[in-house]
Amino acid sequence: MNHTKSESKKYDVVIIGAGASGSALAYTISKYTNIKHVAVLEKYDRPGQVNSRASNNSQTLHVGDIETNYTVEKVKQVYPAAMMVAHYGEILTPTERNKFLFPTSKMVLGVGKNEIATLEKRFDDLRPIFPNLKKLHRNEIAQVEPAVVDGRDEKTPILALHTTSGYAVDFEKLSQSLIDNSEINNPDIDILFSHEVSKISKLKNGQGYHLAIKNGESIETRVLVVNADSYSLLLAHQVGYGKEFSLIPIAGSFYFSKKILNGKVYTVQEPKLPFAAVHGDPDVNKSGATRWGPTARFHPVLEARNMKTSLHFFKSSGLWKWKTWTSFAKILFDPVRFKYLLENMLYEFPWIGTQMFIKNVRKIVPNMKASDVTYAKGYGGMRLQRVDTNTKELLLGEGKIIGDMAIFNMTPSPGASVCLYNAMRDAETVTKFLGTGFHFDKERMMTDLYKESETCEGKDPGLKYNYVS
Ligand SMILES: Cc1cc2nc3c(=O)[nH]c(=O)nc-3n(C[C@H](O)[C@H](O)[C@H](O)COP(=O)(O)OP(=O)(O)OC[C@H]3O[C@@H](n4cnc5c(N)ncnc54)[C@H](O)[C@@H]3O)c2cc1C
Repeated sequence: MNHTKSESKKYDVVIIGAGASGSALAYTISKYTNIKHVAVLEKYDRPGQVNSRASNNSQTLHVGDIETNYTVEKVKQVYPAAMMVAHYGEILTPTERNKFLFPTSKMVLGVGKNEIATLEKRFDDLRPIFPNLKKLHRNEIAQVEPAVVDGRDEKTPILALHTTSGYAVDFEKLSQSLIDNSEINNPDIDILFSHEVSKISKLKNGQGYHLAIKNGESIETRVLVVNADSYSLLLAHQVGYGKEFSLIPIAGSFYFSKKILNGKVYTVQEPKLPFAAVHGDPDVNKSGATRWGPTARFHPVLEARNMKTSLHFFKSSGLWKWKTWTSFAKILFDPVRFKYLLENMLYEFPWIGTQMFIKNVRKIVPNMKASDVTYAKGYGGMRLQRVDTNTKELLLGEGKIIGDMAIFNMTPSPGASVCLYNAMRDAETVTKFLGTGFHFDKERMMTDLYKESETCEGKDPGLKYNYVS
């Protein structure tokens, strides 16, 4: 769009953030809408450098087959939503696809009678959705993942649900691919790296938003979509949205061992702590290694390993309000959560941390010793969990605030997996916001990426649910 240096650049749509979510929306708008004046503003110098960074998350395409914390209802939504990433890969050349999409086997392991009962029931419930899902007993597990059975007490029963049809994803490279293709689809799109939005305000005429950029530039947009994950709430607060929400900052760190697993091995989750169960994953960028984690530690920052973002956490969390403290107390002093978070804090200490952490790993590989794992320095991200301070409830999974000509997405796991699905929903809202003359070819996007055979619910669950998790 035309502009002089002294005046604001003007766009129809501005997306803040070029992680998986923002990049997926840029791609969707560029390919399936007629909106041309679009900008993506990203504070770092390339896409996917925060939670979507390959080293900061577990690289799993969460479809719901091994995630025991998802209800069957949620699995039915997440499966087709997450598979959009795989189908996006299918429309690219193999060279492009192989940069970010890695077929892998996956299992969820149940140890002891209760967990086995959970998996037996789950198998029956999920079989119609995942015909490739197999139930494996001890001897069969030993063939697929020998280390899971070696050295395990014969008296402890185990069972696994296993599939060879899983995917690991480098969400950082996925973000890059989506951005590259957005630029090909719409040569007019402005992808502006090193553009940190410092202040959002509503335009006086009520026709959109003004964005102050840290480098002194000024931008105006009719529609704003904030895909800044942990920062989205802080930015929403600036224009009066989401004041009832606070954030509990959960840092997830990892450990490495030499390669001991052939695929991903998850465990049955504690319902009160769905972000907590440790798993073992091959790292897509580190052959010969297995990555263990994530841990779950209370750590007051918005970005991992960036203490400067601590101030922003305090700003966005509303800790000056009494009801925030009472909400945190209710959620964190729950005995199960309190014990768990306390333990996880100790994992960060050099010697004792590894000794304690290894107990979780031994649930998967009984023969592992503390000396077999090393803390993965520089790995791990932040999972900001929302709290509704009115109801004092912990709101797990994603959150979306739809305001006046604006959308704010908060996207902890499985946000990266469902990035294209969320983009599809947001593209629809954005086009409606813009009104006459703008259209979104949702049918075509669904034909390309959202396969009916993977939905159990009919054609368009996107319209029925607020968000998929
Ligand atoms: C330990 C851990 C394990 C996980 N494992 C998985 C997994 O296996 N599978 C899965 O699907 N999900 C997983 N997740 C969740 C996943 O990482 C997130 O859902 C996903 O990365 C969110 O993508 P995003 O684009 O919304 O956010 P991000 O990738 O964090 O991107 C937000 C972007 O906004 C930019 N930004 C922020 N503020 C501003 C500003 N003011 N101006 C300009 N730019 C700004 C940031 O620089 C960043 O690039 C995991 C998360 C963690 C922490």
